[in-house]
Amino acid sequence: MRRSFKFLLRPTARQVAALAACLEDHRQLYNAALEHRRTAYAKAGVSVRYGEQSAELKHIRGDDPDGQGRWSFSSQQATLRRLDKAFRAFFERVKTGRTPGYPRFKGRGRFDSVEWPKDGDGCRWDSQPDHPTATYVRLQGIGHVRVHQHRPVQGQVKTISVNREGSRWYVTLSCDEVPAAPLPATAAVAGIDLGVASLVTTSDGAQVANPRHLAATADRLGDAQRDLARKKRGSQRRRKQVARVAALHAKVRRQRLDGAHKAALALVRAYDVIAHEDLRITNMTRSASGTVEQPGRNVAQKSGLNRSILDAGWGVFLTILSHKAESAGRKLIAVNPAHTSRTCARCGHCAKDNRLTQAEFACTACGHAAHADVNAAINILRAGLALRQAAQAA
Ligand SMILES: [Zn+2]
Repeated sequence: MRRSFKFLLRPTARQVAALAACLEDHRQLYNAALEHRRTAYAKAGVSVRYGEQSAELKHIRGDDPDGQGRWSFSSQQATLRRLDKAFRAFFERVKTGRTPGYPRFKGRGRFDSVEWPKDGDGCRWDSQPDHPTATYVRLQGIGHVRVHQHRPVQGQVKTISVNREGSRWYVTLSCDEVPAAPLPATAAVAGIDLGVASLVTTSDGAQVANPRHLAATADRLGDAQRDLARKKRGSQRRRKQVARVAALHAKVRRQRLDGAHKAALALVRAYDVIAHEDLRITNMTRSASGTVEQPGRNVAQKSGLNRSILDAGWGVFLTILSHKAESAGRKLIAVNPAHTSRTCARCGHCAKDNRLTQAEFACTACGHAAHADVNAAINILRAGLALRQAAQAA
């Protein structure tokens, strides 16, 4: 099993400067490679590929020993591959006829991570120069950076990446062969509905609320962004406000992750099988209809930004849930969410009028009344069990 582990770094002041320089040089490399591809195509109609750009790295490093030459060759290749991936995605979108956005130059503050694709190559996890009990990661050009290792690492460390979130630095290890830790069977199954007011509602009627403090931070972020829009470009105040917005973004991310981990853990402990909406389909239908259904209770009628901040948690949550489910030996089933919110879980009657408000469901055929999210979760569970039965019969 593959799993990642993320830790806070405790760099010295000198290391912070080196980390920032490392990011900056990788950003410039990315932009230079992007420029190269653009001009080659504009002037000569030539597509430049990753292989050619990677081959040029040697010269770039040789010409700039105190700049680009300081960093790991492999991490620079990883950055070029990242650009390559952006281009592949771009051409993929062109092919499928969608309006693609051309890969963009990364401005300052828009390039926040560097990856070392192989432990031992320009980086070394758990390298201990002078302290027997502390954990360090060695990064080429930066040195031994102390790690706040709050939990053990399992499996084989494959890749190491460093990212900046506001004023904090983190290291993320991607590990292979992490042993699974199956949980005892509970014989219980559940469907879950993902919402805004409640992140998760189960078919048993349990609700995990989007934490109140997440909504509060989302509010503050919205305010901070409006303030930012009023600041004059290039001013000292604007620069400070940019930092404030970045810090709040980072806080939202941390709170969301924390809430998602707790909710996912509770679910995999309680249920052997969990059915959920297939988000790829959900997102498509939501953006196509273009309507924001009346938002829920706690976060009533908040700005689009606030809502999108809370919404964006679903993908994160499902990713975490799938990792935990795999580790615990639980089964997840993704179902098509069409009509799950307007179908009566008791009699199957499907009508728009069944849904009175965001929170209330009342069937116009049989009179069944329930919390709308619970009703949807039951439909999702039923659809999931039907899929599983069909798969077993096949
Ligand atoms: Zn009914």
